[in-house]
Amino acid sequence: ENQNLFAALRAAFPKNLDEIAVETDDELAYSWRDLDRATAMIANLLVSLKLPEGSRIAVQVEKSVEAMMLYLATLRAGYVFLPLNTAYQSAEIEYFIANAEPAVVVCSPKNFGWVSKIAFQAGTRNVFTLGDDRTGSLLDRAAVHGDVHQPAKKPAGDLAAILYTSGTTGRSKGAMLTHGNMLSNARVLKDYWGWKPGDVLVHALPIFHVHGLFVAIHGALINGSKMLWMAKFDPKKVIAWMPRATVFMGVPTLYVRMLAEPSLDQAAAKNMRLFIAGSAPLLVETFKAWQDRTGHTILERYGMSETVMLTSNPYRPEEGRRGGTVGFPLPGVGLRVMGDDGKELPTGEIGGIQVKGPNVFKGYWRMPEKTKEEFTADGWFRTGDVGKVDGDGYVSIVGRSKDLIISGGYNVYPAEIEGYINEMPGVAESALVGVPHPDFGEVGVAVVIPKPGAKLSPGEIVATLKAKLANFKIPKRCFVVDELPRNTMGKVQKNLLRGEYKDLFA
Ligand code: ATP
Ligand code: MG
Repeated sequence: ENQNLFAALRAAFPKNLDEIAVETDDELAYSWRDLDRATAMIANLLVSLKLPEGSRIAVQVEKSVEAMMLYLATLRAGYVFLPLNTAYQSAEIEYFIANAEPAVVVCSPKNFGWVSKIAFQAGTRNVFTLGDDRTGSLLDRAAVHGDVHQPAKKPAGDLAAILYTSGTTGRSKGAMLTHGNMLSNARVLKDYWGWKPGDVLVHALPIFHVHGLFVAIHGALINGSKMLWMAKFDPKKVIAWMPRATVFMGVPTLYVRMLAEPSLDQAAAKNMRLFIAGSAPLLVETFKAWQDRTGHTILERYGMSETVMLTSNPYRPEEGRRGGTVGFPLPGVGLRVMGDDGKELPTGEIGGIQVKGPNVFKGYWRMPEKTKEEFTADGWFRTGDVGKVDGDGYVSIVGRSKDLIISGGYNVYPAEIEGYINEMPGVAESALVGVPHPDFGEVGVAVVIPKPGAKLSPGEIVATLKAKLANFKIPKRCFVVDELPRNTMGKVQKNLLRGEYKDLFA
């Protein structure tokens, strides 16, 4: 059987191809036939370029249904899709193109001047443009090609995509994902999240990242489900669409922004079946506020570019979705928590999370040393996340190993301290980062965001912590600021905070 991911998605299209597959916020409707024909035409264009096996198709374009079609067409033709964050500027694009050596680059028409220059210098011959309004040379060129295309034959182990990580902890790495990685994960999630006929997904995430590109798109397509497609997240519009939808996926900040809308209530969310959150920790407060306002319990899950999805809270509400946890390892995923000595830790103890499974990537693109470092001798992948598994099997993430603070020889887990700070009245959220200190090696600095209108005193925050926690865990300084630096996926960029406060004790 052909293991091409596209072939599996295509096989799940409804029998009646005239049904609507995607509706957009600018009021366009695409049928399943449109998806099939357009992806065939783009695939035929790619094939006509006679690219070598394994060629990378690098894409930096605004979100559009056509951009999704380009992704699907790349799978269909058997090449390797390489999406790039739309925020990247010339220095970043130069690095990615030099690193990935794509055979084809597709960029926004407005960026053609500088992107094509970088691409040509790196030896890429084919540079196409694709606008978010269906303009550009890619579609013009594809239009002359036939609308029938047999998906390329692919074994499960062939590369389907190179996904650069978000760069939260340092320079992005290209995670090499295979058709088998993504197909196995998509099938598990279809079952685990109870996808059923008639489901409709609100797609409001960017499509250069694992969440919007893989989890959301594969989820809808492999269920033959319609998507309501939003180019840019708009909280009011998502709420207005809820009566016509059943599933929503978002990063935590999207939930926070919807909670700020008075139109969000039980009635608005009545038709919804499932709200899913991930990519960054969901505050327990957001989890609870969402329950109070909508009557729905957000299902939090955990994954990464290198592995697609790893754990999920249970679908059936009676099994219990627990706020502050990321649920259970998905079927087929092995997960263990390891101590610094390389031994597996008992239940409840905090350590490095390692995983194994058909979803785990092949390695980092052109980084064999890094790849070797991140896999153990017995084949487990070191996620770089620190966490624990409780007695009932629920996994929680307490932070990243790179964010761990070692103060006077003691481990300080930022999430623990942040949890205490976040509980204080008037606090919206917080981040604890480690900065160099002459006596302790490192000490914690707390950065705290007040709720709108609240006045916070850094001294009181520290005093409250002192009454509750061991001295080595107490932040040596506390700052009250307006907001935390976040990237497009809503992840707090602690590296920036560390940079900002690095000289406090120098
Ligand atoms: P980089 O690897 O370049 O530093 P990144 O790890 O942020 O960037 P991604 O692959 O986009 O890049 O993100 C995966 C990470 O996101 C996970 O390793 C984990 O730290 C975090 N994450 C994802 N889901 C959750 C969640 N539900 N709760 C807490 N953290 C999460
Ligand atoms: Mg990472």
